[in-house]
Amino acid sequence: MASGTLDIDLSAITANWRALDARTPSGVRTAVMVKADGYGLGASPIATRLRAAGAEDFFVALAEEGVALRTALGPGPRIGILSGHMSGDAPILAAHDLTPMLTSRAQVARHLHDLPDHPFGIQLETGMNRLGLDPQDWQAVAAEVLARGPRLLMSHMACSDDPAHPLNARQLAVFRAMTDGTGVRRSLASTGGILLGRAYDFDLTRPGIGLYGGAPFANARAVVRLSLPVVQVRTLEPGQTVGYGATWTASRPTRLATVAAGYADGLFRALTNRATLYAGAVPCPLVGRVSMDLVTADVTAAPGDLPDQLELLGPHQGIDALAQAAGTIGYEILTALGSRYDRQYGQVAA
Ligand SMILES: *Cc1c(COP(=O)(O)O)cnc(C)c1O
Repeated sequence: MASGTLDIDLSAITANWRALDARTPSGVRTAVMVKADGYGLGASPIATRLRAAGAEDFFVALAEEGVALRTALGPGPRIGILSGHMSGDAPILAAHDLTPMLTSRAQVARHLHDLPDHPFGIQLETGMNRLGLDPQDWQAVAAEVLARGPRLLMSHMACSDDPAHPLNARQLAVFRAMTDGTGVRRSLASTGGILLGRAYDFDLTRPGIGLYGGAPFANARAVVRLSLPVVQVRTLEPGQTVGYGATWTASRPTRLATVAAGYADGLFRALTNRATLYAGAVPCPLVGRVSMDLVTADVTAAPGDLPDQLELLGPHQGIDALAQAAGTIGYEILTALGSRYDRQYGQVAA
């Protein structure tokens, strides 16, 4: 076995979901965002566990993701489709009881024509300019749509991870102006919105990254540990170089470990000479270029008996710390985690 091991702590995800759920009053439901295979961590095991913990609402990006999720969850829980009702989706929406969150007047027309009695929600555009009916479109169709009993009116916030950003209050005001008095259940907040305060709660929140241990949910429990096997250890003389492009030169006698994961596994090439691996608690700088299947680490500081595995994600370095080294965000670290890792759903003790 030469692949790395990705330990995914379902009880930490459950604790994070409960902690976010507890931040809103009891009448406010807390959904589960499991798009992109549960942010790369496995939509089926995560959704199944959170369903058992009491979650009733799940969202994915694509109808095809919804089919897999329905198979895992069975009948009952609501599964919302964020890309709405795309051309050709009607048969699978109907067959798998998926609720499209309609994004445009064209989608509204398609849905009411193709599946007139099938549940749907509506996405409203309030300032992000990505998905949803803008105020003029909504005004044109609101009466007709409301008469058909939408299950949810929702919008998405562009800057909710930055509490000081003026767009937050602006989007809230637009959302209220578009939905006050409709009597339909409403949803605005993702993880960041939950943390902004009660005005953003409405009837349903939609956390994703906070469940998986990432910013902006600062009190989240860590969810992942990524352990990478050491393939080989060698000693370098001062002046010898490491890896493609010879980008790192030993300045002293150096013990170097070659580790089995690379950019094909989600270790971005931007981490070249920037990341840190851990031998137990001892930091071991990644030196030399990240290559497709391998990275190299300076393990000179590690004790004589090097562990079989070095840790890239875990108690010593979380997804946001690694993201910062790579110049990205925790979301991208998680969704890039490669398919070659052995995914284990156990406990990741901190
Ligand atoms: C991804 C997504 C969320 C979850 O956002 P996080 O920042 O991960 O909490 C909520 N709503 C919509 C529409 C999304 O696309």
